Amino acid sequence: MQDLVRQWKDKPLHGRYRSRIEDNAIDTKASQGWLQSGNLFLETEGFIASIQDQYNMQNIKQWNCNGCVSHVNELRVMVRENDPFCIALQETYFRPETSFSLRNYNTYRKDVIPDRRARGGVALLVKQNIIAQEQRLDTELQAVAVRITTPFAATLHINLSILESDNEHTNRPTYTRPARIRSLEFQQANNISIRDVLQRAPYDTPPWTRSKPHIDIRLSVFLKNETAPQVYLARFKQITDHLHDHLFIYSDGSKSSTGVGASIVVNSVCHMWSLDPISSIFTAECYATWQALLFFALSSSLACSIVSDSLSVISSIGNNFTKDERISRILNLTSSLENDHKKVRFIWVPSHVNIIGNELADAAAKQAATMPPDEGIPTPLSDYVKHLKDTTKQAWQHKWDLYDGHMRSVQTSIEKWTYPKQLNRRQQTVLCRLRIGHCKLTHAYLLAGDHRPQCLACQTDLTVQHILVECRLYSDLRRELQMSSNIQTLLKTEWPKVMDFLLRSDTYTKI
Ligand SMILES: [Zn+2]
Repeated sequence: MQDLVRQWKDKPLHGRYRSRIEDNAIDTKASQGWLQSGNLFLETEGFIASIQDQYNMQNIKQWNCNGCVSHVNELRVMVRENDPFCIALQETYFRPETSFSLRNYNTYRKDVIPDRRARGGVALLVKQNIIAQEQRLDTELQAVAVRITTPFAATLHINLSILESDNEHTNRPTYTRPARIRSLEFQQANNISIRDVLQRAPYDTPPWTRSKPHIDIRLSVFLKNETAPQVYLARFKQITDHLHDHLFIYSDGSKSSTGVGASIVVNSVCHMWSLDPISSIFTAECYATWQALLFFALSSSLACSIVSDSLSVISSIGNNFTKDERISRILNLTSSLENDHKKVRFIWVPSHVNIIGNELADAAAKQAATMPPDEGIPTPLSDYVKHLKDTTKQAWQHKWDLYDGHMRSVQTSIEKWTYPKQLNRRQQTVLCRLRIGHCKLTHAYLLAGDHRPQCLACQTDLTVQHILVECRLYSDLRRELQMSSNIQTLLKTEWPKVMDFLLRSDTYTKI
């Protein structure tokens, strides 16, 4: 029996052996737990890289070198200090004629493509003592891939800039332009530029080995509208009384119609930043918290309390497995500070309860929101996405406002149409036809090849609007049912009356 088990374990599965799991260096419990929990998500690559780094003391370096030939000395220093087995370079600016080599490394590269807007070039440098095989990538992306054989098997690849010009659609007029091109055109037309995107930082350490950040949200148990400011103030004093050696940093963010600001206050001195106006309040609060950590990192204090009035930010900091790039950047910095024996504590306080630091931070953030945005503060992708969605909806609504027809008189906004749940299938069909303005009674002539139907009593074209609102024949019935004279109100909220009306006027079956 044991022989069979051993045989099975030595059988290669996808090129690996089951018995490898029993190696000393592998934390079986954590690995299995991780695989079973099924949390594989965007940052998985970061996880895997950090596990691999842990397992294999050699490492992979990634560098945007902004011209490899001119920065080759920096590269040499990095190699001497870290001895990476693989270096992923971006923005190499290699042209096909550029010759480049680094001692002990093989170079795999994709060079600058002339006459394309996305330049840069990428390269992978892999140590010569590692068996590596370049992989063919069938893509226009700036990417190279190399399969290497190491204690762990992996395919490394980096891909960077998507080529911005793609001419396929211009040669063929009937070809639908790619969504990306249409999106770029929309962005240009609406003056949206996606510049600094806040990148998701890979985990410095596997999140399960991190200690939980110290967060204090004790003050949130009180209900704000039932608690006097003095009570909060007294409780805050109680919480902070024994923290004599702590550096207190108050952080706050603010969003208004003029812009978005973030601020920190240390010893009554304000520091403030103005963010891209599309940033959310959560982004501003996170940025302030991050700046507070940076301030603490550069100070000589060994302990620090960051006081914020954003419960959402402070609660998110409690989640070591967060997928949010704003929070993960805070967590990375917190854990590296803890490794340097600098203790951080996050404390939540309500706003506007006369905690002086918080009031100062609030005023500073509001002031920062009125200033022009600072350069170089990255904005998370989620804020760009929301901004794009809002702008698209506005443009769509604007287009709809200019449309003149039956459907716009029924539905003036581009919101989704909903149907009352109480209606059966047939009634929903009827309501839908009335909303669209096309029904058997008014449009069957198109199929039959007849003339457009007329209302004989009123000597006018027969339309849905005419039947429901205008026709003289039914004015008594309408009055009796107390129907609105507005077709939008009728079809949106007064649909039970409309159903009654159709049945009693004997038109229900003709819709
Ligand atoms: Zn009529």
